[in-house]
Amino acid sequence: MAETIVALATPPGVGGIAVVRLSGEAALTVAAKVFFPHNAAKKVENAKGYTALYGKFMADGRELDDGVALFFRAPHSYTGEDVAELSCHGGPVVAQSLIDACIAAGARPAGPGEYTRRAFVNGRIDLTQAEAVMSLIDAAGRQGAALARTALDGALARRIQEFKQRLVALAGHIAAWVDFPEEDVPALAPEALAATLDEVSAGLAELIKNFGAGAVLREGVDAAIVGSPNVGKSTLLNLLAGFDRAIVTPIAGTTRDVVEQAVMLGGVRVTLRDTAGLRDTGDVVEAEGIRRSRRAMEEAGLILAVFDGSAPLAEADRQLAADCAGRPAIAIVNKSDLPQQFDTAAVAGSFSEVVTLAAGRGEGAEALGEAVRRVLGVAGLDPNVPCLVSRRQYAAACEARDALAEAKNALGGGFGLDAVSVCVDDALSALCRLTGEDASDAVVEEVFSTFCVGK
Ligand code: GDP
Repeated sequence: MAETIVALATPPGVGGIAVVRLSGEAALTVAAKVFFPHNAAKKVENAKGYTALYGKFMADGRELDDGVALFFRAPHSYTGEDVAELSCHGGPVVAQSLIDACIAAGARPAGPGEYTRRAFVNGRIDLTQAEAVMSLIDAAGRQGAALARTALDGALARRIQEFKQRLVALAGHIAAWVDFPEEDVPALAPEALAATLDEVSAGLAELIKNFGAGAVLREGVDAAIVGSPNVGKSTLLNLLAGFDRAIVTPIAGTTRDVVEQAVMLGGVRVTLRDTAGLRDTGDVVEAEGIRRSRRAMEEAGLILAVFDGSAPLAEADRQLAADCAGRPAIAIVNKSDLPQQFDTAAVAGSFSEVVTLAAGRGEGAEALGEAVRRVLGVAGLDPNVPCLVSRRQYAAACEARDALAEAKNALGGGFGLDAVSVCVDDALSALCRLTGEDASDAVVEEVFSTFCVGK
């Protein structure tokens, strides 16, 4: 049986309450040394699962705090072990003192992700769910959290399971047919074989396709706001931020460095980088700013290229449009409240979306949000569909898809069922790796080492 571990389960810092979690065989024995129920007739060691007691937290004979202890009994707990959750008043000092008291009473500090690792080892969750926990902790926006939640509920695990069952049935059938010719195993019709390969491949392709969009929703993107001086970049940043983040003046060249601000745009967390206007300049500081803004543009996952609708098209605008071609870029034609002179058609071809707005009047943020969702491919993403939530899962799904493509080739090329069966086995082992069913220690280590302590 594993040692009993302890850690803060709630975020560090000041809060209404803090939860210190104990897990392991001695969880209740340790709890009994630091927690004394108000009703002296109650014994912590005998507490049943899913019950709570009110009492005092003590260390070295000194009262630390009063609060509630919740008990879970193996295997009906998050980790599958005996668990005690001690809720004290929020604040780093009390919670830390309580953790110290638990350590003095025989627990040891939990390593990163150790609770979730134990849940995995004890068969409470599979690897996709373990990674979903991590993703949920990190999720940037509400939709990203919903996606992670879906995986946590096991939707992804069920989907992969379904793929695996179909492939196992196929592999079994081929093996039986090839290895036991004397038995009366019915031959597999090549069309039926091809249909199964195609259907599972299509399912995997769907998961793979949604991974990028899911990652955008969970993690957000970095966006560069670029354009000539005075087109309204800082005004746009301030509009999206909801407060005056950047200095706005009618003097060209005011923004000399990159100003950063995270905002929610169309449900996506977008870290906006307002850059120095792109223009030729003799000013060294401004020139450095422009260099940085070009780099911000190259690194950005989203480019917001701003043009002044009230000014005629300039050479710099053409250049900017050319630089944006083939990138995830939106043309924003600003100052729509003024008489329009800009030739939008001349730049539109370089952008997948064109939005006309008046940032100075506080108008257009919503239309821009919708354009952002379309450009980033998240507009049609249903947060309730199963979704791969880590690069590791993504890589395994791609491997399975490629192995199935090879199986299809082998079938088409007349290489015989042996060759098909080898490829199907490869696909199966990639899928097993995805859910961690035969996960090697190295994979498990990698997954859990990225967790934060206490989860
Ligand atoms: P930047 O140099 O591109 O960051 O441009 P700024 O945001 O500093 O704006 C330059 C000037 O354009 C300022 O005087 C703004 O008030 C003005 N401006 C920005 N947006 C609009 C708009 O939608 N309509 C009008 N009429 N003026 C605007």
